[in-house]
Amino acid sequence: MAFLSDALGRVAPSATVAISQKARVMAAEGKDIIALSAGEPDFNTPENVRDAAKRAMDEGKTRYTNVDGIAELKEAVAAKFRRDNGLDVTAADCFVSSGGKQIIFNALMATLNPGDEVVVPVPYWVSYPEIVRLCGAEPVFAVADASTGFKLAPETLEAAITPRTKWLILNTPSNPTGAAYTASELKGLAEVLMRHPHVHILTDDIYEVLVYDGKEFATIAQVEPRLQARTLTMNGVSKSHAMTGWRIGYCTGPRPLLAAMVKLQGQSTSNPTSISQWAAVEALNGPQDFLAEWREVFQARRDMVVAGLNANTGLDCLTPEGAFYVFPSCQRLLGKTSAGGTKLVTDEDFVLALLEETGVALVHGTAFGLPGHFRLSYAASNAELEEAVRRIQGFCAGIA
Ligand code: PLP
Repeated sequence: MAFLSDALGRVAPSATVAISQKARVMAAEGKDIIALSAGEPDFNTPENVRDAAKRAMDEGKTRYTNVDGIAELKEAVAAKFRRDNGLDVTAADCFVSSGGKQIIFNALMATLNPGDEVVVPVPYWVSYPEIVRLCGAEPVFAVADASTGFKLAPETLEAAITPRTKWLILNTPSNPTGAAYTASELKGLAEVLMRHPHVHILTDDIYEVLVYDGKEFATIAQVEPRLQARTLTMNGVSKSHAMTGWRIGYCTGPRPLLAAMVKLQGQSTSNPTSISQWAAVEALNGPQDFLAEWREVFQARRDMVVAGLNANTGLDCLTPEGAFYVFPSCQRLLGKTSAGGTKLVTDEDFVLALLEETGVALVHGTAFGLPGHFRLSYAASNAELEEAVRRIQGFCAGIA
C-alpha cells in the first residue's frame, strides 16, 4: 500500500518555486543573482495597515473568529465590491480565506467530482490546473496566446465547453502575461457563457489595482450582471496592499457555494489569522491614494523592461496592460547555442542557461502551459531591473 495519496500523485510541484530555489542556492554559493522569478510586490505593507495589526494584538483580538471572517472585514469586502466593481452584494454574500489561493482551493474542492471539467485559458497561473487535478477533475486547456493578446477568444471558449464543464477560470490582469480584459472583451465571453447556464465562472481579480495607461479594470459579473448568480469573484490584499505574508483573500459568490466553502474551511484551516483580518479591514477601508504612486512606479518599470527586451535581442515582448509580469517569446532564439555553449532547444534550456551564464532568474513559459516563452516579474528595484535587462541583452547577443 502506497503511503502517499493518489490525489497528491496527480499534482506537480511548483516550477516557480523550483527556479527561485535554484537561484537561492546559487546566491548562497556567492553568485551574483537577480531573481525576477517571484510574484511579489517589493513595497512594504502601508504603515496604517501595520498599525491596525499592532492595535489588534494589543487589544486582544487574538482569538478564533467566525470561520469565514469577522463581520467588520466581510462588511469592508462587500463595500469594496460595491464601490470598485459595482456588484450588488452585502456582507452575507462575502467570504474570507487565508489568501486568494485558499478561496480557489475551497471553491474547487467544494464543487468538483471526478470527470468534471474546468476550462483553463493558456498560459495559466501554475496552481489552477494542479488544484483541479488534486480535486480529481480535468483541466481543459483553451489557448490564449500572443495572437489574441493572451486573451481568451469567445470562439475558443465556445469550443472548450462540454456538458461536463463545471467552471471557467478567468484571471485578469493575468499572471503570467499581464493581459487585462476590457469590458467589451469580457462581454464577448459573457455572451458565450449566457448560452451555457451549467458553467460557473471563477474570476481571479487579485491584480485588479495594477492596470496601467489609465485603462479601467473590469470584472465579468459587473459587465454581465445576469452571470452574477454563477460567478465567484475572487480578490485579496496580497498584491493590492503588498500583504503576501499576511494571507488574506476574499470573494463574493452565490450563497450556497459560500456555505459549502465555510463547511470545508471549518474542517481544515478554520478562520484566517485574526490579526491579519483586522489589518485587512484597514487596508480596504483606509486611504488608497498610495496605489496611484505604486502604479506609476510599476508602469515605468514595465515600459523600461519591454523596451529593453525588444531592443534587437531576438525576443518578442508584448506590452501588457497590468499586473507586474511580461511574457516574451524566445522562439526565434531556440535551436541556437548560447555563448556558454548550451544548445537552446526549449524555453527551459533558455532560462537555465540564462541563470547559469548571467545570474538572472526567470521562469520558462512551459511552466505556465505555453512553451517558447518566459515570464519576467518586474516587481523588483529599478537598479536590479536595469542590470537584469542589460544581462539578458548580453546573453541574447551571444546566442549564435
Ligand atoms: N492568483 C494569482 C493569479 C496569483 O498570481 C497569486 C499569487 O501569486 C494568487 C492568486 C495567490 O494569492 P494569495 O497570496 O492571496 O494566496
